[in-house]
Amino acid sequence: MKSITFIVVFVWAAFTCLAQKKTSATTAVVISAATVERVEKTLAADAMQGRAGQVGGLLAAKFLAAEFNRIGLQKFPGLTSYEQIFTAYETRTTALYVMLNNVPIAKEKTLLVSGQPHLNWAEDDDPAARVIVLGAEANFSKVIRPLLEPSENIVVFVDPAHEEAFKKLSRRLQSGQLRPEKPGPFSTVLALVAVNNNPIHYRVAANTTVHAVEMRNVVGVLPGQDQNRANEQVVFSAHYDHLGILPAVAGDSIANGADDDASGTSAVVALAEYFKKQKNNARTLVFVAFAAEEIGGFGSQYFSRQISAQQVVAMFNIEMIGKPAKFGPNTAFITGYDKSDFGKILQRNLAGSAFRFEPDPYPEQQLFYRSDNATLARLGVPAHTISTDQIPTDNLYHSVDDEVESLNLKNMTAVITAIAQSAASIISGKDTPTRIVNAGTDAR
Ligand SMILES: [Zn+2]
Repeated sequence: MKSITFIVVFVWAAFTCLAQKKTSATTAVVISAATVERVEKTLAADAMQGRAGQVGGLLAAKFLAAEFNRIGLQKFPGLTSYEQIFTAYETRTTALYVMLNNVPIAKEKTLLVSGQPHLNWAEDDDPAARVIVLGAEANFSKVIRPLLEPSENIVVFVDPAHEEAFKKLSRRLQSGQLRPEKPGPFSTVLALVAVNNNPIHYRVAANTTVHAVEMRNVVGVLPGQDQNRANEQVVFSAHYDHLGILPAVAGDSIANGADDDASGTSAVVALAEYFKKQKNNARTLVFVAFAAEEIGGFGSQYFSRQISAQQVVAMFNIEMIGKPAKFGPNTAFITGYDKSDFGKILQRNLAGSAFRFEPDPYPEQQLFYRSDNATLARLGVPAHTISTDQIPTDNLYHSVDDEVESLNLKNMTAVITAIAQSAASIISGKDTPTRIVNAGTDAR
């Protein structure tokens, strides 16, 4: 009996020793390369139709909701599914006639911003629309920008010197305008024409349709395991929408958005899967795939109104991590690096690993403001975007050629692994990044 006891004790001691060794070493982060590849290829497939519009957007959202369900995430408080549904409003000009001094102005030289079904204006209306004559010397975008959210009825006669800017605006408005709120009661009419006389005699007649468009973020939650930390949230996010169908290039018209941002969305799914298996997050983790980033960031705006920004201690927004960064493999950059100490914490957690984060090397691109992190950053959240894209030279960006074949999935998995590792001390509650005090604005 003794010897057996001795052996049992010995074996037990060996086990304890091994177990201690295992927990004291840095836990190796294992992100599933298979999950990354499968989610990436599914989201970037032609079947998803560029993840825009009612068909492609819905297909992608349903797929992601099924992934969150497979992983076993919980629903966001107040929701009965993983879909966080909201409404945007699409306005479309169906008819527009402008006459100046009894002369009709060519259709392509007129523009309308309106949510009113019918307009029928003349200079002798009471009250009449305000008339602005924009001279050749005026700053087009400075004057026009506020008029795109009209707070009174306005007719603007734009000097033909601004033809270039006018055409650009026209292209933007032609495909229909989406807005997060129901359009207000006022309209702006623009006409590209020289005005030589005073008083001005004009007529405007127009029809506009407004459609409510249903959109959905996909949100899943891993509740914090520590009672004292569970009300503090760490958000991992990416936008799943892309540009849909573009004018065909060499017979291809589907904007697959493999890098932008199926790559980031795959990261969110792979991270959710990883952290769910870890089962040791002290803080609550919120995984969100945003809708409608490309058309105005409506998804993150809606999301930001469903959370308490004070409770969000950090936001890891992930955008375009499919191709190696300019610093080489095993690197990525963080936008708005100096706006909080988020980046420093991440770098510290990577010490000794083969991976490193760098500050955003393209400050002139204003990338901090060009993704969903900016919405939460403006509310004080240390919300940054992690990316590898060499955007100044990325010819595939927003083209129909942003396809899986152009990605390096191995490097992408390394980036996701680094994100998981670098987030460890924030998830455990050991580190809390400083708040963003003044997010600032896009200076372009
Ligand atoms: Zn994009």
